[in-house]
Formats: sequence, C-alpha cells, structure tokens
Amino acid sequence: MDERITQEARHFIDTIKRFVKDECMPAEDAIEQTGRLPDGLIGKMKDLGLFGLRVPAAYGGSGMNLLDYCYVIKELSKTHDALRAVISVNNGIGSMAIVHDGTEEQKKHYLPLLASGDYIAAFALTEPGAGSDASSIATTAVKENNGWILNGMKHFITNAPIADIFTVIALTDKEKRAKGGITAFLVEKSLKGMRIGNIHNTMGGKGWLQAEVIFEDCFVPDKNLIGAIGNGFKIAMKTLNEGRLSAAASAIGIGERLLSMGIEYAKLRKQFGKPIAEFEAIQWMLADSATELYAADRMLADTAYRFDQGEDIRTQSSMTKLFATESAFKIADRMLQLHGGMGFMKETKVERMFRDIRAYRIFEGTSEIQRFMIARELLRG
Ligand SMILES: Cc1cc2nc3c(=O)[nH]c(=O)nc-3n(C[C@H](O)[C@H](O)[C@H](O)COP(=O)(O)OP(=O)(O)OC[C@H]3O[C@@H](n4cnc5c(N)ncnc54)[C@H](O)[C@@H]3O)c2cc1C
Repeated sequence: MDERITQEARHFIDTIKRFVKDECMPAEDAIEQTGRLPDGLIGKMKDLGLFGLRVPAAYGGSGMNLLDYCYVIKELSKTHDALRAVISVNNGIGSMAIVHDGTEEQKKHYLPLLASGDYIAAFALTEPGAGSDASSIATTAVKENNGWILNGMKHFITNAPIADIFTVIALTDKEKRAKGGITAFLVEKSLKGMRIGNIHNTMGGKGWLQAEVIFEDCFVPDKNLIGAIGNGFKIAMKTLNEGRLSAAASAIGIGERLLSMGIEYAKLRKQFGKPIAEFEAIQWMLADSATELYAADRMLADTAYRFDQGEDIRTQSSMTKLFATESAFKIADRMLQLHGGMGFMKETKVERMFRDIRAYRIFEGTSEIQRFMIARELLRG
C-alpha cells in the first residue's frame, strides 16, 4: 500500500476489505438479479461512515483526504459496482459542490444528512443535447424576485430516482455560457416543478440507476445558489476533476478483482493435461494485466497525493482516469477470454464486471475527452 496513505486509513481499508469479502460479495448475485441494494447492507455502510468519507468532520463526516478516500473506494469496488456507486456519488459529484462552494447554511443543513446516508445526492449536468460539450447546456435559470425559475431536461443522471438533493448546472446567461453564464443550484426533490422522467435501461450497472430529470417552471430560492452567479461551469469542472480520480480508483479495484479471479481460474482449469496457467498465452494475459494495474495504481496515488498538497492536477487527473479505465476494460476482456466459454456465462461474475466496467470509459468525461484535454494542455502556448 502507498506509504503516504495515513495509518488511520490503512486500518479502515482493512475493515472495508473484510466487509467486502464477508458481507458484500455474498450479496452480489442478489443485487444483480433484483437491481436492489439490500437494506441491511446499506445500514452497515451507514454505520461504517462510508457515506461521509469526504465530508469535513465539522459537518458530520470523516474529512478524509483524496488519497485515503481513493484507496477506500478502490477496495469497495472489488464487489458489486452498485455498492461503490451509491457511496462515490454521495462523497463525490453529489456533495463536492456544497463542500467547496456552498454557503455555511447549506453546509450545516445538507452535509450531515449526506454524511449519514439519510440523504442521497445526485449531480445533474448532462442533457440530451449537451454531453461532452457541457457548455452547450440548454436548461435555463431565469431570475425572478427572490429566486430562479428552472426549465429544461437533464438525462443519464445517476441516483436521480432515489436522490433527495441535486446539484443542477443551468444556463443563466446565454451569451456568456461557460465564461460566466452558467450557475450551480441546489435543488431538493420536493420542489414543485421538478420531476424524474424515464429511468434508462442500461447494459450494465444493475442496482444504480440513471434517469431523466425534468424542470418545468421550477422555482429555486436564492438561498439555493451554490457559489457565485456565473461560476457554475468552474464548479462543475472542479467537481469532475475529483470524480475522475474516484473513477480511476474504482476501475483499478475492479481490475484487481478480475485479475485475482483470472489467476485462480488459470490454476484450476486444465486443458491438454495441464493447468491453462502453464500456457504462455495465458501467462501474458496475467502479466500484462498486472503491469497495467501497477502503473495505474502509481498514477492514482501520485495524482491524489498532489491534489491533497494543493497542486493543480487537472491534466494528471485526466491521464489517470484515461489509463485506469482503458486498462481495466482491457483486463476485463482478457479475463473473460481466459475463462473461455465460462467467461460468457452468467454463473461467473466476469461477464457482469465486463458489462459494468464499460461505462467507466464514458462517464465523468469519455476517454476521447480526456485525451482532448491532455493534448490541449500539451499544445498550450
Ligand atoms: C453510467 C453513466 C452514468 C452517468 N452519470 C451522470 C451523472 O450522474 N450526471 C451527469 O451529469 N451525467 C452523467 N452521465 C453522462 C456522462 O457524463 C456523458 O454520457 C458523457 O459525458 C458523454 O456525453 P454523451 O453521452 O452525450 O456523449 P457525446 O458527447 O455525444 O459523445 C459521443 C462520442 O463523441 C465523442 N466526442 C465528443 N466530443 C469529442 C471531441 N471534442 N473530440 C473527440 N471525440 C469527441 C465522445 O467521446 C463519444 O465517443 C453518465 C453516463 C453514464 C453512461
């Protein structure tokens, strides 16, 4: 384990390892079949304080730094992805705008609820017409008396059907757009004029939902502004920077689990009178996977540590997300291949993980967008 991870976090990571092995892994098939997270497990995750890892201690969380947090997420990702998702959204894209830019009143009210898991959060940026080009959003917020009227539609929003609060990114000045014309709002699900539309039917990711969020003359009071008017694009990008490292951490966790399953199977499965682990073709699959995981892990530790030191890690965060998620997908493909026909069957968990990891190359910025941002930085000036 990276030597910069605190002693306290190491103990906690050991606890999560046991929790994952003893309580989460046995529940994986049920989660996959029902698409629901067992109440008992959610309760235990609350008791462990998992919902508030990144929430500052003053507001009921554990105030973990990003490095420690990423390694907790990596461990949690070794089980069903839905368990990781509910935790990483509350700690990441769902709450970070409030943590960094919220008013004292917002922090005091919402952060303890998020840290305890009593409130579930969501982050609503993407729209049918605005994905990679987030600055082209069409959801508007128009000033009226002591608040704002929101109109528009978001889609692919994780947790939307179960979320209590949403960080919503809306257009407040069509001319300025990303340069001062986009603002962040805190929207409670109970607000009139806001509703959840269709729930998307997805290829993987059972147990964590994406849905449309629709605003029809939804009045949001001034006190629900997050940060300054016009600062919403910066707030969204800052939130995603951290989110990318969490996505990388998860991808590495999934990759490590897949690799250990591959090693185990390669030793057990015999063909031509010997374990398939003795064939060079299989050994290379394992060796390449281990090498990529090692590199991704080092990138993660270094970038998260530098973030905690206050460095600007925008480019490194893109590189880490790109490399970790692309590698994890390759590893999932190799490990499925290593399992032969069994890898295609639902009785092994490889096929589920293969479907789940696919989304990682898309959400929190596609691989193409990460490359675009890295190259833009290289070519600057
Ligand atoms: C499982 C899942 C969960 C999600 N959760 C959330 C959430 O909670 N909140 C939220 O706001 N959004 C969420 N999203 C949305 C996600 O962030 C977007 O899907 C993603 O940013 C890509 O946008 P898009 O789907 O519109 O694709 P598009 O932007 O339409 O891209 C289509 C293709 O074109 C490529 N492309 C686009 N622009 C360029 C370019 N300049 N150079 C090269 N290639 C380019 C893309 O890489 C992609 O291959 C989620 C998505 C998924 C799949």
